[in-house]
Amino acid sequence: MSNPLETPVSLDEQALKDEDYMRQAMALAAEAELQGEVPVGALLVKDDKVIATGYNLSICRHDASAHAEMECIRAAGQMVENYRLLDTTLYVTLEPCAMCAGAMVHARIGRLVYGADDLKTGAAGSVLDLVRNSAFNHQLSVTSGVLATECGEQLSAFFRRRRKEKKALKQAEKQQGQ
Ligand SMILES: [Zn+2]
Repeated sequence: MSNPLETPVSLDEQALKDEDYMRQAMALAAEAELQGEVPVGALLVKDDKVIATGYNLSICRHDASAHAEMECIRAAGQMVENYRLLDTTLYVTLEPCAMCAGAMVHARIGRLVYGADDLKTGAAGSVLDLVRNSAFNHQLSVTSGVLATECGEQLSAFFRRRRKEKKALKQAEKQQGQ
């Protein structure tokens, strides 16, 4: 039951907030990119405050579990000294994978907001849906496609640049061999 004394947040207002947080997540993704990582960024919001942030660090850490969402969930757990992150919203630039979606269910995160779909490994609706699976004891509410074009472009620009760099390296090697 909703409290009539509480001013409900209008849909438009929430959409604007979501975009604002997503831009912050994109800035975190850019941090990852500076470190040579695939640019994915995440943050966790509670009561309209960012309580933890994270970005992809898998390569630097030699750790397949160091995804942006995992980094964020770990930091938030330390912050609140509880693995349960009740009444929080996780923002991430890319649709979570199965590992991250599973961690979100364990952490009882209330809502997931993501940018670009991940058609290869997305586990919030694209390939699988682990965050709204009725067989589990917890489901998240999901808002997808927030700044999807910008988030997707951040990733594809990274991969374009990386392909180009690899090609240039190969050509340089070839020339040296001649
Ligand atoms: Zn993941």
